[in-house]
Amino acid sequence: MDTARDIISLIGNTPLVTLKGPSAETGCTILGKAEFLNPGGSVKDRAALGIIEDAESRGLLKPGGIIVEGTAGNTGIGLAVVGAARGYKTIIVMPETQSREKQDTLRALGAELVLVPAAPYANPGHYVHTSRRIAEETPGAIWANQFDNVANRLAHIRTTAPEIWRQTGGRIDGFTCAVGTGGTLAGVALGLRAERPDITIALTDPEGAALYNYFACGELRAEGSSVSEGIGQSRITGNLDGLSVDAQFRVPDAEGLNWVRRLNAEEGLCLGLSSGINVAGAVRLARLMGPGHIIATILCDSGLRYLSTIYNPDWLAAKGLAPA
Ligand code: PMP
Repeated sequence: MDTARDIISLIGNTPLVTLKGPSAETGCTILGKAEFLNPGGSVKDRAALGIIEDAESRGLLKPGGIIVEGTAGNTGIGLAVVGAARGYKTIIVMPETQSREKQDTLRALGAELVLVPAAPYANPGHYVHTSRRIAEETPGAIWANQFDNVANRLAHIRTTAPEIWRQTGGRIDGFTCAVGTGGTLAGVALGLRAERPDITIALTDPEGAALYNYFACGELRAEGSSVSEGIGQSRITGNLDGLSVDAQFRVPDAEGLNWVRRLNAEEGLCLGLSSGINVAGAVRLARLMGPGHIIATILCDSGLRYLSTIYNPDWLAAKGLAPA
């Protein structure tokens, strides 16, 4: 028999796929970590599993327990998948601006979904604060706290970074991705730097996020806006604590969308906008480093999660973005 023990054992060990167009255009080898192939459909399965196993090992999560989290959707889906497989209930708080597909997926997976209006982080109604309050008020519940719980970045130090190192035969020269919680960027950076201290690590911010200015000039200041989901951070989260980067890029939505469309048409890769922004960042990093380098980024989730948004011409028009 050649079988998987359970769905949880299928999280991680994703392929690292060569992106032909971005590589040809830059003379580098640009690789995408195919995180959309995780069971829950995104990179966040790793953080969800890491957070749940950490809570179990601390005795905070007992059989029949409840996990509460605030999320743009993908962490909630990861928690719902792992939670269902391990016998935990999930209560997921999400801003109502996130895609309908992610909301429907969460309901289908049996999560209790709480939608709240989008609000600034300083507002007590922000989805993260709402999820913390629900966790405090619910007996037997834990708060996953993906932004400040470093079990998130530890999952990437322990799995994503060693996978990339092994898959490139230790030949990787540079890595970049965008930040939601920062677990992926900081975890992969720390893990790869432990193997190769002089590796080049770059932040790729969408517009409307504050980290580009933070790394460029020490000031947490946002400019512009983005329709991307799951990325764009305005503060130094616990998972970003202590991270330094060698370069930083700020990618407009139109540039990320252009890569989403090219990867679809030229390589058969159907991805979300954060993946397109990441690939735009990897292309910029390749141009900065020069030809001949091996550069990796993250293909965070599938485009099927955004058929009603970035793949919908009416939605794009309403957002003032050009159709494909
Ligand atoms: N892309 C998407 C689609 C996401 O949902 C997330 C998670 N919020 C990210 C990128 C960013 O990952 P991280 O939280 O590890 O920074």
